[in-house]
Amino acid sequence: MNLHNAGSTECLLDYHGNGDAEDVLRWALDKFHPRIAIACSLQHAVLVAMAVKIRPDVRVFSIDTGRLPEETYECARDIEQRYGIRIEWHFPRREEVERIMRAGGPFSFRESLEARRECCAIRKVEPLKRALPGLDAWITGIRRDQTTTRSSADKVEIDRGHGGIIKVNPLADWSHEQIRTYAEENAAPYNKLFEKGYTSIGCASCTRAIEPGQDPRAGRWWWEQPEHKECGLHVANWQI
Ligand code: SF4
Repeated sequence: MNLHNAGSTECLLDYHGNGDAEDVLRWALDKFHPRIAIACSLQHAVLVAMAVKIRPDVRVFSIDTGRLPEETYECARDIEQRYGIRIEWHFPRREEVERIMRAGGPFSFRESLEARRECCAIRKVEPLKRALPGLDAWITGIRRDQTTTRSSADKVEIDRGHGGIIKVNPLADWSHEQIRTYAEENAAPYNKLFEKGYTSIGCASCTRAIEPGQDPRAGRWWWEQPEHKECGLHVANWQI
């Protein structure tokens, strides 16, 4: 199915946008499976837990940047065992990782915003660009309360930054507390770094625990300004 332009608009027109998370997920899976997949950041398995009730064979993919915390790989293992699925992994291009490591060393991303964005572009954004072309839609766990750049996210939108495919954000209006409650009530795996003061989890070298009262995203790229705290996966106009 070609969802670019007119096709995408039709999809949006038959979605009646006020559904709760499970309604949105059911609509998306009914309409697009198997050409739809959950992009799992391995912070928690709430979306996977919901989706397997609708489609036990739901597709889940993740990006291994090469710098993930041990707890994130453990979360991936727990999700696979709990739901009997295999995560579809995507990886950065070896040549590009070698190039930035040789040129700038292992922590070049701390030296400037440009260097950090280059690292995220190579390790995250480019692998995502290779993960999406076989899909008509992708499902993310982004929430409006996470960053200023996500505050206007719709539950179903056209992702113009990725060729106009459909992007489904069932948890857009959820809070961190709702995530925690759902995970507990449904015995859904979650990243154990949450028990160590982390509130948002990415690469090990760019994520740390926060102090009580700090913004939940304060532990991500803590040396940068809040408006820059995006890796590029959810920013439409980033290019590589
Ligand atoms: S989060 Fe840090 S280590 Fe990971 S891709 Fe971005 S800059 Fe590189």
